[in-house]
Amino acid sequence: MVIGAVSRATPVRMASAQALGLVLAEDVVSGENVPPFANSAVDGFAVTLADMATGVATLNIAGEIAAGGAPNVSVHPGNAVRIMTGAPVPPGAQAIVMVEDSTPGPTPDTISLRATVSDQQAIRPAGDDVQLGDVVFRAGDVITPAALGVLASINAREVVVYPRAKVAVLSTGDELVDDGSPLGPGQIRESNRTMLLRLVADIGCDAVDYGIVRDDEATLEATLRDAARNCDAIVTSGGVSMGDYDVVKAVLGRIADMNWMQMSIKPAKPFAFGMLDATPVFGLPGNPVSSFVSCELMARPALRKMMGHQHLHRPQLAATATQKFGRKPDGKIHFQRVVVSVNPQGELVVAPVAAQGSHQLAATALANGLAVLPDGPAVEAGSKVSVMLLGPLTPTP
Ligand code: AMP
Ligand code: MG
Repeated sequence: MVIGAVSRATPVRMASAQALGLVLAEDVVSGENVPPFANSAVDGFAVTLADMATGVATLNIAGEIAAGGAPNVSVHPGNAVRIMTGAPVPPGAQAIVMVEDSTPGPTPDTISLRATVSDQQAIRPAGDDVQLGDVVFRAGDVITPAALGVLASINAREVVVYPRAKVAVLSTGDELVDDGSPLGPGQIRESNRTMLLRLVADIGCDAVDYGIVRDDEATLEATLRDAARNCDAIVTSGGVSMGDYDVVKAVLGRIADMNWMQMSIKPAKPFAFGMLDATPVFGLPGNPVSSFVSCELMARPALRKMMGHQHLHRPQLAATATQKFGRKPDGKIHFQRVVVSVNPQGELVVAPVAAQGSHQLAATALANGLAVLPDGPAVEAGSKVSVMLLGPLTPTP
């Protein structure tokens, strides 16, 4: 429902250097060979095959070529040219003998070589990595750090990509404080927006801080309308359940086309999604862990779709439970926060973090995954559990 309601952004041309993490909307065709010329893979001596036929030779050093130098000397029988890694291979050279297989010759301008040499040994031909006209990346590929290196290597200074979604993030609640001041009666420190801004940025979006909005309908309406005008999507936290002060529900119910959901999952049961004018709005619940989980499960795949990704969902891995996962049949899929790790045998193992309450963000912050527990009884230690990996794997302590 949510994914079906959002669409891909219109592709844009931008500087490659700005495009890390974005999805290509067009193939990238190389206009150059990489490497541009045949060059040496090692530091050593450029030789002819005839000179090295017996595996040993003492040759005159006819010259030297460093990386960045021009091959201004050629190789003839009886001669070798000293060459550095990356330097252009001189005319006449049929192989490079590495410096480790050399000893100084009887005079300073000679070298003694001992090596079994095959044709073109240690010579990297032009275009050995990328050839002129090669399709190096296809539409749909994600620009990784190594891809940025490839784009630089072929002088592709611009790419056509799906742009970063500009996402407004705001929290709601009269109880929230974020200015460091002492807490008054009933007040708590704001945490969701701080977290969500970073989660949204990690998805690859430009996260825009719309601050804390008080539980006041007029202010909230003005803020939401401003966000809808200026951003590609809106993420709100709080105010989407059944309480009297759930102003997000009141305002969006009036000005937007919304679906108010009670999802059969735990945590993050209440969730809202809809369109304010043409801008998608993700109404996340206020409990911090619910906010985290619903951002991951509901907002992330949709925002990825908007940014042209082909794989919207995290893969689910099978890991062995090292502890019991407590739960009861309740008609819900449980997304328990877990630590997934690799045991000394190289197998994936998983354990729940210590506290699973929807208000207990401190424990969630130590998790690197979500276990997906279908409706049913507790899962015993030793069972296989399906997990979504959210962060790097670590060795089991
Ligand atoms: P709500 O969904 O607005 O009813 O909020 C549910 C619970 O989450 C309440 O205990 C709120 O105080 C808390 N909460 C709501 N928004 C935030 C926030 N931005 N940071 C921390 N806690 C919040
Ligand atoms: Mg609230």
